[in-house]
Amino acid sequence: MNIILLGAPGAGKGSQATKLKDYYGIPHISTGDAFRSNIARKTEIGIYAKSFIDKGQLVPDDVTVKIVADRLKEDDCKNGFLLDGFPRSIPQAEALEGLTKIDYVINFVIDTEKVVARLGGRRTCSCGETYHVSTHSSPLCDKCGKELFIRDDDKDEVIRNRMAVYEKTTAPLVDFYKARGLVVDVDANGTIEETFDAIIKLVK
Ligand code: AMP
Repeated sequence: MNIILLGAPGAGKGSQATKLKDYYGIPHISTGDAFRSNIARKTEIGIYAKSFIDKGQLVPDDVTVKIVADRLKEDDCKNGFLLDGFPRSIPQAEALEGLTKIDYVINFVIDTEKVVARLGGRRTCSCGETYHVSTHSSPLCDKCGKELFIRDDDKDEVIRNRMAVYEKTTAPLVDFYKARGLVVDVDANGTIEETFDAIIKLVK
C-alpha cells in the first residue's frame, strides 16, 4: 500500500507514521528526517538544506524529489511505503506521479491553534522519538536515554513561517489529490491512539 501522510507541521504525521509502519509492515519515508540526518552528517545536501530549514522555508523541489526518487527504488519499498512530509508542493506531487502510484492520501485535519501549541512544546531526540513538555517532563529520551532538544525550526518565529508556507504551498495538495479520489480525511485533534484508530478503520 502506497500512502501519503498530508497535514500541517505538528499535525502528528511522524507519530502516526511510527505506528503505521509496524501495523502495515511498510517503511516510513520522512524527507524531514532525511534532511536532518544529512545535516547531522554535514553532507553537501545537509549544508544546503539547513539554510532553508532554519528559516522555515521549503528545500527546493529538485533536491527533495531526488532524495525521494532514490529512496523509492530501494527494495523495502516494493510492498508499499508511507510518505511523511512529501510531497509538500504541487510540482513535487506532479513529480511523484511520474515515479509511482499512490493508493491513499491521509489528510490530517487539525485546528491551527493546536498545531502551534504542539510544535512549541515539542522535544525531539536524535533517535527520532518526539515528546511534548505537557506530558513528558524529563529532559531525557525514554527509549534511548539521550538528551532531548528543541528543533531549530520548532522555535516560535520559524513555526509561524512554516505554517504560512503550509497554507500557501502545501494545503493546495488536498484539492490536487481530492480531484484524483485519493483523499481520506482524518480528525487529528485527538490523542495519538484516537487518530491511529481512525486511520486504520479508514485505510484497508
Ligand atoms: P518536517 O520534519 O517534515 O517538518 O520537515 C522539516 C523541514 O524540512 C521543513 O520545514 C522543510 O524546510 C524541509 N522539508 C521537509 N520535507 C520537505 C519537502 N517535501 N519539500 C521541501 N522541504 C522539505
